[in-house]
Amino acid sequence: MKTILLHSLLFLLLPLPAPAASQEAPATIRVDYYHSGNANTEMFSLHQVVLEPLPWPGNPDKAIDTSGRGYFMFQVEEPVSGAVLYSRGYSSIFQEWQSTGEAREMNRSFHESVRFPNPEQPVRLRILKRNQAQGFNSIWTADINADDMLVVRAHEPAPAEVLELHVSGAPSDKVDLVLLGDGYTAEEADKFAADAQRLTRALFTYSPFRERAGDFNVWGINPPAVQSGVNRPSNGTFRYSPSGTTYDAFRSERYVLAFDNLGMRRILQNTPYEFVVILGNSSTYGGGGIFGLYSTVAADSDWSEYLFVHEFGHHFAALADEYYTSDVAYEPTTERPEPWEPNVTALHDPALLKWGSLVQENTPLPTEWPKQKFEAFQLENQARRAQLRAENRPEAEMNRLFEEEQRWVNELFAGYPGTNSVVGAFEGANYMATGYYRSEMNCTMFTRHDRFCRVCSDALIEIIDLYTPGAAGH
Ligand SMILES: [Zn+2]
Repeated sequence: MKTILLHSLLFLLLPLPAPAASQEAPATIRVDYYHSGNANTEMFSLHQVVLEPLPWPGNPDKAIDTSGRGYFMFQVEEPVSGAVLYSRGYSSIFQEWQSTGEAREMNRSFHESVRFPNPEQPVRLRILKRNQAQGFNSIWTADINADDMLVVRAHEPAPAEVLELHVSGAPSDKVDLVLLGDGYTAEEADKFAADAQRLTRALFTYSPFRERAGDFNVWGINPPAVQSGVNRPSNGTFRYSPSGTTYDAFRSERYVLAFDNLGMRRILQNTPYEFVVILGNSSTYGGGGIFGLYSTVAADSDWSEYLFVHEFGHHFAALADEYYTSDVAYEPTTERPEPWEPNVTALHDPALLKWGSLVQENTPLPTEWPKQKFEAFQLENQARRAQLRAENRPEAEMNRLFEEEQRWVNELFAGYPGTNSVVGAFEGANYMATGYYRSEMNCTMFTRHDRFCRVCSDALIEIIDLYTPGAAGH
């Protein structure tokens, strides 16, 4: 692996199939703002506009987001005509927090950012929110002039060198993914590099990433931690992290999120990036993923490779969780509106099933599967899992439980070879045992399975195409 200091050197050192395009790459504008409110109300307030140190890593021909995903969308508009110059869907910690009990008790603020190529003219930034009819409503605008003297242009030096983990070409032609180390001390820099390389290799063993590996750049950066390990309040492990990465997000012991967005952005701005995975230096099972923001993974867990890919599915393509038997921080609901995520459905009208083109005519909707057997087993399993955590048992016992669990699931599903490969509508998904459906019996978004279902795979490919010159030649 080569390691280089980035900044202006980057574009001289990379192999450039089209050097002219990169020389002309616009600057990167970041708008930092606060997203505040409670369960019923929200507001946005501008923090600052930042001119990031590295040029825009995105593909100039893919400025408009055609995927239609995310709880939110931002648009960069020409202020007079309203013409949209750039757009992207995304999700946020705020909107996840809104579905927790705490949001009914108090107001909170979360720092967020949107980034776009410098439009070289004053623009209007518009944030839109998903409505019940699956469209978007405008909820905030801010006029942005990147030439204003108060735009932040001076930056602290990069806290660490940038690693080239998997570089395929100019950032404008590739999906740029950065792996950010958390909880690795300066002495553990080599361990971070090894973990990052191992997880990068793992990502490219999963289809469709395997076939599209040449469309990705993977970078690494590891700001040295004061003390080894990741913050985990529930077992008394307290660690400082510049990105605020911690277990116990929303008091869910395995949910790992980074709450210091500004600290994270100040590190990430030293790498070309469109997607972010935070590698936590911990063996305790855990992770998280938010569309367009980042995903996290316990890099030392026996399940780190699965966790990396599963959480990246949330972050990269807004894939919903297809599982429904694990405890989550969100409060259950009785309503079943059709989810906007590509891989789960309320199946209100089977004739309009969003993945209907993949369903064969003779497949019944909904589709039978050994649901009762699966749930009875999972009920027992979740109780054992909670007990292991309550007793603070060694992680090896948790790993063994998960191994036994996955073996049992694989054997159960192997007993239904006719159903195992069918695309249909299988009840139980999106944290709900009833009323939500997934497309196949098994998937990386359902159990710790090593394959994405076809619907998830297609949804991932659509996003790869949104950051690269296109599917031509693949
Ligand atoms: Zn799936």
